[in-house]
Amino acid sequence: MAPVVPHEVHYEPPAYAIAVLDALEARGHEAWIVGGWVRDALRAAPCHDVDVTTSALWQESAQALRDAGYVVHETGTQHGTVTVVVDDKPVEVTTYRVEGSYSDHRHPDEVRFVQDVREDLARRDFTINAMAYHPQRGLLDPFGGCEDLAAGIIRAVGDPAQRFAEDALRVLRAVRFACQLGFVVEDSTHAALVEAAAGLADIAQERIGQEMDGIVGSGRVGWALMHETDVLCAAVPELRAMRGFDQRSLWHAYDVMEHTARVCNAVEAFTAGVASHHLRWAALLHDVGKPACCTIDKMGRGHFYGHPVLSGELTEFIMERFGLPSSLIRSTSALVRFHDHIIRPTSRSMRRTLAVMEEADPGHAMARAHELMDLKRADAVSKVPKCAWYAVELDEMDALLREEECKGTVLGLGDLAVGGQEVMEVLGIKPGPMVGAVLHELLAAVVDNEVENTRDALMEELWRSALENG
Ligand code: ATP
Ligand code: MG
Repeated sequence: MAPVVPHEVHYEPPAYAIAVLDALEARGHEAWIVGGWVRDALRAAPCHDVDVTTSALWQESAQALRDAGYVVHETGTQHGTVTVVVDDKPVEVTTYRVEGSYSDHRHPDEVRFVQDVREDLARRDFTINAMAYHPQRGLLDPFGGCEDLAAGIIRAVGDPAQRFAEDALRVLRAVRFACQLGFVVEDSTHAALVEAAAGLADIAQERIGQEMDGIVGSGRVGWALMHETDVLCAAVPELRAMRGFDQRSLWHAYDVMEHTARVCNAVEAFTAGVASHHLRWAALLHDVGKPACCTIDKMGRGHFYGHPVLSGELTEFIMERFGLPSSLIRSTSALVRFHDHIIRPTSRSMRRTLAVMEEADPGHAMARAHELMDLKRADAVSKVPKCAWYAVELDEMDALLREEECKGTVLGLGDLAVGGQEVMEVLGIKPGPMVGAVLHELLAAVVDNEVENTRDALMEELWRSALENG
């Protein structure tokens, strides 16, 4: 079926954006909505925040907008940008500009303000991001962005090699847009991507982290691992060792990279495409420490003892380097560290799993435990076919987990019917690590169903312990 070529936006700009255009044009300047809003309005995607590009210099924009009664913040005047707030909505207004040379592959040495909007569009990264829209003048699309949008193609504006040499972050942006939109990268743009990927080494880790977070959050990182391997390995060098790494195992039909890509795809399948953000990150990084843990036995088979712990450490190292939020890092590493935690279809095993998850990510045991099941299922169906039965067994375990949820299972020290005070009183000890150790022992006994979680039963345990140690 021939693609339907979109030729008009599916919704009109919001009133606050039109107010900005009107205020600028009332002073004789030209102004357009540009970039992401235009792209998303053409594909009928939910409304995107609005960026405006204008012939006015930033001082002129600020003046015109303040005279119209709006608050203006001088947010990036060296690049010609001010931010105006209309109806509590911020709109970035930037002067038409082109960029000078990029001697460091990341910052233009200079920006030059210009009078023609087409020149401004030409400095933008991809055809789908290089369109401008105006409610009266319509769509300005000098590089065929509309057609590429309809065909699902990411194509650099101008010579791709030159564009990626100017700013290597564009390499990762190309993959991020491909993942978020479900597009493919056009052939010559793709060839240039691979060539330019090494340039990511010069880009700030936080910026790489933001793009990687977008790629992972798209739910298509499995696709990116298989189709844009060079780019992902340049962005996250720790992934390189997974590529082509033969596991020499009866349980594995794929190298670590392909196995990981399959796990990423499988978590989407098992969660109907709405996997949590940390589960997606965990799928990507769960085996990142595997190659470094490999030992080969006498039969020539590979073993990977300790790899979940090393993968967990690497996960924290990578995500901290990327400047990602600590709560995201904690949840991700809890899943990675325990992805090989042995679970049996028994109530006790579920309670132990919950206690382990509570310790790893306090306050989130139940959610993490369900996600651990999803990660394990995805892992099981991405090995050799005979491992897939385990995914079915995990279904049964998920039901048991839900039963524990209904029973209001004890998860952590805070759920115990006694606390540090009772421990100190009965054992006659002072505050210190010993109190925590005793509470942990009580918790383990409760989790294992050996002692009931009531004050009487736990006090009895404490007295017993006082007698034994006394
Ligand atoms: P989203 O915000 O959804 O990621 P967006 O298109 O708004 O998408 P931004 O990063 O906010 O992307 O940038 C706004 C616009 O600025 C882009 O649409 C593009 O035209 C241009 N742009 C941003 N970064 C670059 C870059 N590194 N090189 C060239 N043009 C860029
Ligand atoms: Mg944006």
